Amino acid sequence: MTPKEKIDALREKLNEYNRRYYIENDPVVSDSQFDAMLHELQELERRYPEYDDVNSPTQRVGSDVTNRFEAVRHRYPMMSLANTYSLEELREFYDRVTKETGEAEFVCELKFDGTAISLTYEAGRLVRAVTRGDGAMGDDVTANVRTIRSIPLVLAGEDYPAYFEMRGEIYMPRAVFAALNREKEEIGEQPFANPRNAAAGTLKLQNSSVVASRRLECFLYAMAGEGLPYESHWENLNKAREWGFRISDHMRLCRTWEEIDAFIGDADRLRQGLPYDTDGAVVKVDRYDLQRRLGATAKAPRWAVAYKFKAEQALTRLVSVEFSVGRTGAVTPVANLEPVQLAGTTVKRASLHNADQIALLDIRIDDMVYVEKGGEIIPKITGVEEATRRPGSRSFEFVTHCPQCGAELVRYEGEAAWYCPNGSGCPPQIIGRIVHFISRKAMDIEGIGEETVALFYEEGMVRDVADLYDLKPERMAALPRLGEKSAANIMQSLARSLEVPFARVLYALGIRFVGEATARNLAAHFGSLDAVMAASEEELAQAEEVGGKVAGSIREYFADPVNLCIVERLRAAGVRFEADACEQLSDSLAGVSIVISGTFLRHGREELKALIESHGGRNLAAISKNVDYLLAGANMGPAKLAKATKLGVRIISEEDFERMIAGTDAGHPIGTSPVGGEETPAVDAAGRDHPVGVKESEQDHRATDPTGQGVLF
Ligand code: NAD
Repeated sequence: MTPKEKIDALREKLNEYNRRYYIENDPVVSDSQFDAMLHELQELERRYPEYDDVNSPTQRVGSDVTNRFEAVRHRYPMMSLANTYSLEELREFYDRVTKETGEAEFVCELKFDGTAISLTYEAGRLVRAVTRGDGAMGDDVTANVRTIRSIPLVLAGEDYPAYFEMRGEIYMPRAVFAALNREKEEIGEQPFANPRNAAAGTLKLQNSSVVASRRLECFLYAMAGEGLPYESHWENLNKAREWGFRISDHMRLCRTWEEIDAFIGDADRLRQGLPYDTDGAVVKVDRYDLQRRLGATAKAPRWAVAYKFKAEQALTRLVSVEFSVGRTGAVTPVANLEPVQLAGTTVKRASLHNADQIALLDIRIDDMVYVEKGGEIIPKITGVEEATRRPGSRSFEFVTHCPQCGAELVRYEGEAAWYCPNGSGCPPQIIGRIVHFISRKAMDIEGIGEETVALFYEEGMVRDVADLYDLKPERMAALPRLGEKSAANIMQSLARSLEVPFARVLYALGIRFVGEATARNLAAHFGSLDAVMAASEEELAQAEEVGGKVAGSIREYFADPVNLCIVERLRAAGVRFEADACEQLSDSLAGVSIVISGTFLRHGREELKALIESHGGRNLAAISKNVDYLLAGANMGPAKLAKATKLGVRIISEEDFERMIAGTDAGHPIGTSPVGGEETPAVDAAGRDHPVGVKESEQDHRATDPTGQGVLF
């Protein structure tokens, strides 16, 4: 390959990896592999300047711009960061900066692994939130960002500039990510590869209430604007904390190389225990005048650098690949590995994601492969050591038939996974569906676990969820490990499950893409299973959070005669198919009229309407003098607010509402807390982490220089 061909090939690959990472939020290679390739390209471009190209991935900020949001030009560019994986290179940065400036101090911070955001505040109010985009223009995602609780919508205090921007990182806490992926797998959706992609993907959703339910969080790490309070990054961040911004406590002002080195060591030790992912530390020159003097390249400032931690990686042999079949029929490849130590545990199995991933990485049996642990429970294979590949090995072929029932696999449009279409005849799918049906959030049938279901299945006692209601106690009691008492308990649980509300029954059916929240919204909108079954795709899509994909899946479910038969047998068994008046939960809102406006963190609008009614209240559409309360969410129209204020309608937040229906509003007069979502969270003591070692004395106070500016992230 000539150098030119090599350069072209690297550019093409990196552009594709960028697209998968920033646009699809579904990366194919690990960050360290991406960075190694980018580094190789940089070296080649340095040696062969005749092939320079301003469009090279080395020259441009990887772009996340889509056509689904309004594109907005950044007043101050949002740049990337130069990065290194080597302490020697970090030391070179320190030496260079110290030499050029003579007197620099450095702020060391954690490098949060999420997605960058720019927040514009005017007169102390959040007016705009824009993604980094290509650095010059980004997507306006204000509506989504307003649902993030750690981002203040209104600032505390008074001494903030009239106009300024805060830059930060939106991320998904690890626990939220794990729960979200479990839920996605449960309803047959492709899980996210890691918390970073989950955060970036969530931020680009069209429906803000879904965004709210994903519980994103944000750390702010830079201020930009004119008339900033201080001429130093450190002091401005500390000031921003007073205004209500969530600034990490793991930040240190360092004067010497030894202090920087110590911070890096502390940050590396700390990161395993943090509830969110970090992928390194960022070292920034503190003073703005020095930042300006050092300037920037086309892509990144010259006064800051990211030191990236290598993801913990192990190299081991791929012994074989197994295919597991889930409840929805998705066939997932799982790698069996020669056992290897990784981050304190022995790893024997790893995820291979899907067929595309295997093909892209060209993974072959017997290859030496890299295994990494990210935020996920099961480690994944991120690369292959091609140099040690045994001669004569052949590309891996994905199975074409179901390993469990032999049916030919199919692929649905736009989906990466292969599916076994034999839903009613494939044992793991049947067992998986029954296990889902009896699970706690669905029919909550106690006394039966996955093993018992498998046993019932093997004995020919259950073939579908309706068979559960035909179980005979004598027959169960005769089975090994069960006995009369267990059989009696199961019968009782089955009887109790007939009281489970309709929304949960709908979820229990296991219709693809119908998760708990969607089931609740459908139940609230349609009121009965018959109405859901009779609805067209367009009508189904009228329900909150039900898009074309979900509606199509519901129609498909009810078009299948096997499912219709199950549904009728469940009906005959007495399972609740109607959200009837018995679901009156309390009369705590008796005689009260409420108007709902805006988006909410914990409930969808349909759900709120249903809650108002089930607690005896009335939900009205428009503000008038007959309205008692305006339940105000994050994006409420200003006209509604003005009218409510004029008519003396009391404004309550989602929390107030929850207290009202729970009957625990005593001691917290309704309407006295700020408008929903508009409160300025005091810096959240519970959410804050313990300092790496910021000492009070380090926060020296410098004179204010109103010309301060120059933050480029
Ligand atoms: P980056 O993520 O390496 O660094 C810049 C970003 O760091 C900023 O935009 C900001 O979002 C973030 N950041 C977190 N904490 C910060 C703090 N305290 N101060 C300032 N910034 C902070 O750079 P990038 O340009 O966003 O992404 C490039 C990197 O992304 C690559 O080096 C690679 O590791 C990864 N990537 C991976 C793939 C892949 O396929 N795996 C593809 C493209 C990019």
